[in-house]
Amino acid sequence: MLIVMSKGATAEEIEVVIKRIEAHGWQAKPIPGGERTAIGILRNHGPVDGAMFLGMPGVRDAIPVSKPYKLVSREMKRENTTISLGNGDVIIGGDKIVVAAGPCAVESEKQAISIAESVKKSGAAIFRAGAFKPRTSPYAFQGLGKKGLQILSKVREETGLFIVSEATDHEVCDVVEKYADIIQIGTRNMQNYRLLKRAGQAKKPVLLKRGMSATMDEFFMAAEYIMSEGNDQVIMCERGIRTFTKHSRNTLDINAIPFMLKTTHLPVMVDPSHAAGRRDQVTALARASVAAGCHGLLVEVHNAPDQAMSDGPQSLLPEEFDDLIKGLKAMNFQV
Ligand code: PEP
Ligand code: MN
Repeated sequence: MLIVMSKGATAEEIEVVIKRIEAHGWQAKPIPGGERTAIGILRNHGPVDGAMFLGMPGVRDAIPVSKPYKLVSREMKRENTTISLGNGDVIIGGDKIVVAAGPCAVESEKQAISIAESVKKSGAAIFRAGAFKPRTSPYAFQGLGKKGLQILSKVREETGLFIVSEATDHEVCDVVEKYADIIQIGTRNMQNYRLLKRAGQAKKPVLLKRGMSATMDEFFMAAEYIMSEGNDQVIMCERGIRTFTKHSRNTLDINAIPFMLKTTHLPVMVDPSHAAGRRDQVTALARASVAAGCHGLLVEVHNAPDQAMSDGPQSLLPEEFDDLIKGLKAMNFQV
């Protein structure tokens, strides 16, 4: 249920509604909007009768929320959520396409800084690189851990790029929150509820990747876990889903982009690299995603992909990434 206050509702009137909601043992979540405040009712087990709020001063409407996810839904909040990094230096969810680029994993300081400098020159605003890597094989490179995060801090210092890096479980989330500007939750962890709750308590934005076989409802419910713990700064990231194809690692679900833009107010980013799994498809998928309306991209770039410790075959060379950005600008997208 969403209680919509009228335009001129006073702070006192809003407070009285919140008290009435809480008196029932439910949670009230005020959602300030451009024109008016709405108050979401959460943690109710059973239907709420909107009529009990309708006569109250300042209340304009009581709207049932049809979806199981509430906080992520546009029914609850009509305006787009924007996520600001630094002092508004980068805004995710606004008019500009925000690009995060970098290697799959931090391998060394030299590698990270050299790639960071080149992607920055091309137009990336955020550096992506994993320090804790969730690998399919236990024998594969697992990442540099905390040392990798310290290298990422250095990248930020030297280049001014913001940092996104993955937290693979709730325990490492502490250190990732400390060093990164955005906490990434990977496809394999989209339904790791303990991690989602921990990320929900973080003071940093969370980039949530879609599980490789997750439905949209499951994806939204995962974001709801984060938001229900108090963190409103969630970025939804489509990264390809598993299908029957052999011509790509995954299949980029382009349909998901307009669907998400319609269904949630949260910013939508796309990772064409993991969707493709091969370099020769990344640029086309990136263009398609931007044309479909996404707010940003997450692209793997490596200066020596043949020697990369992970995901070399899908990593663009720095000059290919530069062409990708130039191509988007030529299509009149603001990067
Ligand atoms: C990554 O971004 O490097 C990564 C592991 O992505 P995903 O979780 O989408 O596989
Ligand atoms: Mn990767």
